[in-house]
Amino acid sequence: MAVTATERKLPIGGEWIETGDWLDVRSPYSGEVVGRVAKAGAEETRRAIDAADRAMQEPLPANKRAEILVRVVAGIARRHDEAAALISAEAGKPMKAARVEASRAMSTYTFAAVEARKLAGEMVPMDAAQAGEGKLGFTLRRPVGIVGAISPFNFPLNLVAHKLAPALAAGCAVVLKPASQTPLSALFLAELSDEAGLPHGWLSVVVGPASEIGDVLIEDERVKAITFTGSGAVGWKLKERAPKKRVNLELGNATPVIVSADADLDTVAEKIAANAFSFAGQSCISVQRVYVERDAYDAFLERFVPRVEALKLGDPADDDTDVGPVIDEDARDRILEWIRASSGKVLTGGDLQGDLIRPTVIANPDREDKVSCEEVFGPVCTVTAFDSLDEAIALANGTRYGLQAGVFTTHLDTALRVAQELEFGGVTVNEAPTFRSDQMPYGGVKDSGNTREGPRYAVRELTEERLVVIDLP
Ligand code: NAP
Repeated sequence: MAVTATERKLPIGGEWIETGDWLDVRSPYSGEVVGRVAKAGAEETRRAIDAADRAMQEPLPANKRAEILVRVVAGIARRHDEAAALISAEAGKPMKAARVEASRAMSTYTFAAVEARKLAGEMVPMDAAQAGEGKLGFTLRRPVGIVGAISPFNFPLNLVAHKLAPALAAGCAVVLKPASQTPLSALFLAELSDEAGLPHGWLSVVVGPASEIGDVLIEDERVKAITFTGSGAVGWKLKERAPKKRVNLELGNATPVIVSADADLDTVAEKIAANAFSFAGQSCISVQRVYVERDAYDAFLERFVPRVEALKLGDPADDDTDVGPVIDEDARDRILEWIRASSGKVLTGGDLQGDLIRPTVIANPDREDKVSCEEVFGPVCTVTAFDSLDEAIALANGTRYGLQAGVFTTHLDTALRVAQELEFGGVTVNEAPTFRSDQMPYGGVKDSGNTREGPRYAVRELTEERLVVIDLP
């Protein structure tokens, strides 16, 4: 479905407003304008916070919140093709992947609706201490307050869903700042939320200069939590500047996979080829570093490189495209520079086909090369031989990041050892670490973040426990 360059107003405090200024949203593939969005700044952000504050003075009961979330699921289902086309147009994501993202957003909202209905505190065994005898104690889970949500360009629908749905499930109003390159999918979700009956003020979307909007969210004391997904450079700075707020960070990774010689190499090659290059490697858990036991190294490459070369580059709107563009020229130049600067041998790719970076495999780069330890966020992966499991674990851990990692092996002891010794928030066994299902706890350690998403975990992070103690007669 073609996306026409419609003008989109911003939902702020229950009204869809124009600001007199517009921001063009361009296709990363063709450069064409695919939408124009009203551009907001500090004033609109303050207005959005005022509206969120008013909204939260009349709490929505859990059953109403759950019903609204379920109606959003139905809205996405009804307009699934439109959602996928919008994601593809503004992010340059191939339609195959965009459709999966639209379905995942439905899953995210569905799980959040379940959490809204389950949200409860717990009994405290008061008489377990002498001081508590004759008392009844329990906790309530209260919404933390207004949430400022900031989202990245790479999953413009589902990562916005991971911000909005759990916050509403927790009973929090949200002021959302989506990525300037991809605001259309976020506005689409806001429209569906309106249609689903979300009362005024519970969701406002501000699109515009990041630091100006970010400053207001940080400085306004009524905003009690910031939930941020994006780069570490921005995320950790926000946390530093807001010591009294909860600042939940979901950041980058340089995703490693360990391949034991005993693994089924055909399956591994297939899974890694699909998961290192999908959306041109612009997923925070795109496979980037593959460590293969030396005995299986050549056999793996024989299977892997042809599969990478078979991936189809092209227009993300085409149904058979596997790999499209990266988000912009700056990203493209940086990625090509990192490839050039690596000491490893380029086995395939490393150059452009038209304006698109060809999927690139680099053999045995130095540990210090950027492609070996920093986040490439492009269609590039390295393949390095290892001699012992100790060495493989050290190589995989040799990064400041720690979001997800994986191992392929048929030996249970290898799998369990790796799962315990990799310093990552999640470890997949016989599955690419790019795997994510939206209800699972997802988040990183080290520079990759400080929180867990997945509706159950995000709701926990956006609520606080209030203790009630009753003196019994
Ligand atoms: P980014 O440049 O950090 O931007 C993320 C968001 O932060 C955007 O909305 C951006 O707005 C905003 N922003 C930038 N500067 C800001 C400031 N001073 N104050 C407040 N907000 C500010 O990241 P990106 O390039 O969009 O996304 C790629 C990164 O996200 C990668 O590192 C990737 O690994 C990470 N990521 C992590 C996860 C996860 O769940 N762990 C998931 C997806 C992506 P503008 O667009 O207006 O600049």
